[in-house]
Amino acid sequence: MQGLVIKSTGSWYQVATDGGELVECRIKGKFRTKDIQTTNPIAVGDRVKIEMEPDQDTGIIKELIQRKNYIIRKSVNLSKQAQIIAANLDQAFLVVTLASPRTSLGFIDRFLVTAEAYDIPAKLIFNKLDLFSEEGMEILADYQAIYTSIGYPCYEVSALEGTNLDILEDLLKNKVSLFTGHSGVGKSTLINTLIPGMVLKTGAISDWSDQGKHTTTYAEMHPLPKGGYLIDSPGIRELGVIDIDKAELGHFFPEMRERMNTCRFNNCRHINEPGCAVLEAVANEEIELSRYESYLSIYHNNDTRN
Ligand code: GDP
Ligand code: ZN
Repeated sequence: MQGLVIKSTGSWYQVATDGGELVECRIKGKFRTKDIQTTNPIAVGDRVKIEMEPDQDTGIIKELIQRKNYIIRKSVNLSKQAQIIAANLDQAFLVVTLASPRTSLGFIDRFLVTAEAYDIPAKLIFNKLDLFSEEGMEILADYQAIYTSIGYPCYEVSALEGTNLDILEDLLKNKVSLFTGHSGVGKSTLINTLIPGMVLKTGAISDWSDQGKHTTTYAEMHPLPKGGYLIDSPGIRELGVIDIDKAELGHFFPEMRERMNTCRFNNCRHINEPGCAVLEAVANEEIELSRYESYLSIYHNNDTRN
């Protein structure tokens, strides 16, 4: 019998079987995966083969189906160990606000690089549309132009007033989606609206992304009324990207990726090399300066996450 792990406590896993049942399962033995070693062998989003325990309504997870992608969090204590947060994501949304609080372009770019590295399609949700002044709307248009032109879909909503939430509902239908973003951008409000009956605390000063709280917390997949699941995740700052090799970083910027094979040097870092196609595109304003600055910042390991 196959199913989807939708909840994990670390020792018990709730599996939604393809037959539509919910079975509490345990693990026996070890699982071999081609993925990196993690402290937890199975996470939400994993597809597994299970067998029922004799004369019980509980099951044993027998096999892990190969993941199409996964996200990890680096362990605070055991520096080399990582915890898998979720697997097989269809899409990741960053909830962004331009005011109270303002999400910086550097933070958005870091999220997008992370999603590229994890091989998860990324999308941006601009929330609190109801608060936007005329000037705010212009900034919004600029931001959206930057990101849609390089292939990241942007959506503008007001969780408070319900604006454009039908568009989001359609996007989420029958998909496994991750929501992340700074504290205060409206993730809980959005999720509570999208899932009737959900009562996530809103306006809370602290959330998952605050230090100290997350070590024992596991991600949960919330079933959506029209099908599909929503994972509300810790802040992206906890999503440890599998260490990105500097030489690889340009590959995670789509607008650089498509140009760098015409750089004069094969090992071009796109910093000051002659004949660099990326630098030329930045000079011609074909590549947005803010995006290139994010590249440099991540390349030099500066923390631009705020
Ligand atoms: P979270 O930390 O990302 O989960 O954010 P919350 O959902 O807790 O929201 C933070 C604050 O923003 C709360 O006071 C919400 O009422 C408010 N908020 C959320 N969405 C909107 C919106 O669309 N418009 C306005 N004006 N406020 C919102
Ligand atoms: Zn170059």
